[in-house]
Amino acid sequence: MNSMLIVMKFGGTSVGSAERIMQAGQLAVDTAAKGHQVVVVTSAMSKVTDVLIGAARLASTGQWDPALRQELFERHKAVADAIVGNDAARHEAVLDVLRQRLDRFEKLCYGLSMVHELTPRLLDAISGTGEMLSAPLVAAAIASLGRASQAVDATEVIVATGQYGGAEPLMDETRAKAAALLRPMIALGEIPVVTGFIAATTDGVLTTLGRGGSDYSASIVGAALDADEVWIWTDVDGVMTANPSEVPGARTLSEISYSEASELAYYGAKVLHYKTILPAFRQRIPVRILNSFNPGHPGTRVTVEGHPSAQGVKAVTSIRGVILVAISGTGMQGIPGIVAKTFDVVAAQQANVLMISQASSENNICFVLSAAEAPRVVAALRTALELELMRGHIEEITAEQQVAIVAAVGDRMRGAPGIAATVFSALGAAGVNVIAISQGSSERNISLVVTEHDAADAVRAIHGAFQLDQTS
Ligand code: ASP
Ligand code: MG
Repeated sequence: MNSMLIVMKFGGTSVGSAERIMQAGQLAVDTAAKGHQVVVVTSAMSKVTDVLIGAARLASTGQWDPALRQELFERHKAVADAIVGNDAARHEAVLDVLRQRLDRFEKLCYGLSMVHELTPRLLDAISGTGEMLSAPLVAAAIASLGRASQAVDATEVIVATGQYGGAEPLMDETRAKAAALLRPMIALGEIPVVTGFIAATTDGVLTTLGRGGSDYSASIVGAALDADEVWIWTDVDGVMTANPSEVPGARTLSEISYSEASELAYYGAKVLHYKTILPAFRQRIPVRILNSFNPGHPGTRVTVEGHPSAQGVKAVTSIRGVILVAISGTGMQGIPGIVAKTFDVVAAQQANVLMISQASSENNICFVLSAAEAPRVVAALRTALELELMRGHIEEITAEQQVAIVAAVGDRMRGAPGIAATVFSALGAAGVNVIAISQGSSERNISLVVTEHDAADAVRAIHGAFQLDQTS
């Protein structure tokens, strides 16, 4: 293998304990030993971000429980004890950093408990603490394995907008900072360990990139450094043809395209979020999804070409617990504006539409929302469309519980005739009733609504019809 610059990210479970952190450190060191340059991006230890957010919420009601600080300290200290307990100087240095970070956390929560107002900016300042605690531990683990390493706060590397809780990177500024700070370390053969999830505005105020944002951090740092590859170490063997708990024959896909990855993520598969992919995609940097619990497995590579499959369909996913909202009435035909009004309401409620379908008779439009968003959208629709309901242009607005979206995804579905036929005859043979259908004009997915009860059968039927259990 040629020498590459690899940005590798470890998720929360991959740094969830002392043992996991040592393993993560070992993976970084082994990769560097093969002659590669390595930059690590780390998440907080598993569940820590949730604890931090819980503490912030509690503090904003006027309660601050110092035991929380102690718990966080104990959990991270136990890791420090295990990995550098035998090196007094290094151990004390790590504990010092942990104390400083937790002091800051405690002060923020204490202040919050006085003012009782949790702004998004303050929530970011608090929720980003987890990565600031894990990065020094990962760096210490790497150093204990004999490779120089430093923890780096991403506030010094990633410059982002001030949308707290969902900041977007400013790539030119980030490029300059990453080059100035990280390149010299890399040139010395060191492994920088950058905190995932957090960034800073141009004014230096801490922001976060949104929940699960460490993957995004890795992709941003990879793009900023013109890395050769970005490796996402997680707890599954890459992207699979289906959920293995639903389909026993599901297998790992060795390669998928950026667009397949984003379609799959959209339909609930445990893949990279679409935003995560963008910075890498823009520079054609391959992203590998690897299992830190099973590092010998080659995982999945996400690339431009994505190793297209002749069968067309590459994977089948499902999203359960979603709600089908239907607006129907024979009077809707040819009355302009009902669709526009409907989606204005959806947008005003900031709800995310997972799928839309309208029959060409125009007597019915239906769309799928998450169960959390559906009730308020339906209530708002009933108000906004009151006149149309009264006039009888619309007969009813219904919300069907307990449905699932099943989606078949693949780049090569585009322009390939017969795919829909295969899908629907497989469903027919399995006795699955299809409630609604939609195919995006990208032709990269066919999605359908079925009852939740039928979802697993539907996924298995499609998986079987395209023989996805066999390598192509
Ligand atoms: N620690 C953050 C979270 O739990 C970011 C991440 O893990 O990707 O959302
Ligand atoms: Mg995570």
